[in-house]
Amino acid sequence: MPVYFDERYVSSPHRFETTRKSQHLADHLVRVDANVEIVDPRGAVPVELVEALIGRLHDPAYVQALQDGDDIELAETSGFTWGPTTWSFATAHSHGIVAAIQYVAAHGGRAGSLSSGLHHASPDGGSNFCTINGLAVGAAHALTGLETPRRVMILDFDAHCGGGTHAHLLQFPELGIGVHGDAVQIDLSVSGVDSYRPHEPHHLRLRSLGSGSDEEYLAEVRSALRKGTEAWEPGMIVIYNAGVDPVNVVSFDDPMETIASREDLVMEFVQDKPAVFTLAGGYTWDGFTEDDITALHHEMIWRWASPVWMG
Ligand SMILES: [Zn+2]
Repeated sequence: MPVYFDERYVSSPHRFETTRKSQHLADHLVRVDANVEIVDPRGAVPVELVEALIGRLHDPAYVQALQDGDDIELAETSGFTWGPTTWSFATAHSHGIVAAIQYVAAHGGRAGSLSSGLHHASPDGGSNFCTINGLAVGAAHALTGLETPRRVMILDFDAHCGGGTHAHLLQFPELGIGVHGDAVQIDLSVSGVDSYRPHEPHHLRLRSLGSGSDEEYLAEVRSALRKGTEAWEPGMIVIYNAGVDPVNVVSFDDPMETIASREDLVMEFVQDKPAVFTLAGGYTWDGFTEDDITALHHEMIWRWASPVWMG
């Protein structure tokens, strides 16, 4: 399974999980997972195509600010310090998703990108450690950049919800990118950091969970996946925003086992659907080490890469 990554992913001047952990994970995957091939997205899709998509989806003032840093307040709305590499850093995280979409549209099966810092970013700025919304860029590519347009289902199981993605999707029709509902978001959040009022057919479940609520969380995952099954139509591509930061927000009894069980449930949903993943959240807070976060993300990736799950 191709997993897209290159050195731009970790080139932000701001040190934070979102800007560094993909390197750690790429190194880990090369060592331990023979079913994964780390691929540079620039060999699959030209940078100019991704930049054109980003330009189409965003307020020109925001793109300009990310490129030259002149409007420093706007350039740092993600919360990350701006630097000359910020634009290519943010572009790369979208580039991998576009390359993954391109791959599964042509070949079927699954692919992924070690991207994060996506779903809070909106058409006019960054937010909460998200600079450019690669989920929206990927969805726009599926709807306008492929030989045959493909509808999209965004499954967002990051601890936080995708308010930025929702804002992008609502704008798609006026930008000439499909019609309302061509890209559907199914969102399960366990934190109140971001919120939005979902327009049908989008679905948001915001649930606050106490300690030891491993089973309650998994029940919410099942329920969200049922919504996904109801909204699924043949020909769609799944984009899974696979944050493992519910372990940072909810005090699970067994975080590793709960994330592993979640990924089993996601695989039951994905089966042989064309699907791409992104990393999203997962942080070294509350006693979690970098190796723990890598292991949590790998619970998803090895399942996706395994031929056993090809249905
Ligand atoms: Zn998150």
